[in-house]
Amino acid sequence: MADDELQEYRARWARLFPEVRHVDFDGSVVTNDYCPDCRYCCGPQKESEPFPMALLDRQISGRTPDDFYLLDSHTACLDQRGCKALGPAGCRLERTLRPVACALFPFVLVNLRLYLYLICPASMFVDKAALLDMGGRVHVFLSSLDSADRARISISRRPEDLKAKYLDLGLPDFA
Ligand code: SF4
Ligand code: SF4
Repeated sequence: MADDELQEYRARWARLFPEVRHVDFDGSVVTNDYCPDCRYCCGPQKESEPFPMALLDRQISGRTPDDFYLLDSHTACLDQRGCKALGPAGCRLERTLRPVACALFPFVLVNLRLYLYLICPASMFVDKAALLDMGGRVHVFLSSLDSADRARISISRRPEDLKAKYLDLGLPDFA
């Protein structure tokens, strides 16, 4: 994403969110008051490459294909159709069925290292020190997961995407 596209998002979010909103991490879920009016990361994506959202074993059942577009039996995805679980009033799934990535966004585990997704209005407008503090707590939460689950949750991004859209939080990786 070119700098001018990033600026375009910043201007769009600034119009929609003239005031800074509350964002925090409660130990397992990021509560983000931008989400209800944004819904950017649940809706149709511009990118052609699907965004994978791994499911834990306990989240998979006969209903999974009705809830998600799937890349494989363990991986839901978000693509140009958006997320299948998105309803008119937001996500229609109870919290325990949502991919872990949804609970942590805009913090994202890429190649077993924690990043902040910069396009999110929370990443753009919330105080940087507060975001870094939250990132530290998300890292502690990820440390508490089973290493196989952590590996499953971790995604890979093209190097140019990673450079343009993600901030490396400088925390130890899980490799
Ligand atoms: S981009 Fe950020 S604010 Fe928007 S829906 Fe996603 S997590 Fe919420
Ligand atoms: S599962 Fe729910 S929260 Fe996650 S991307 Fe889909 S609609 Fe959004």
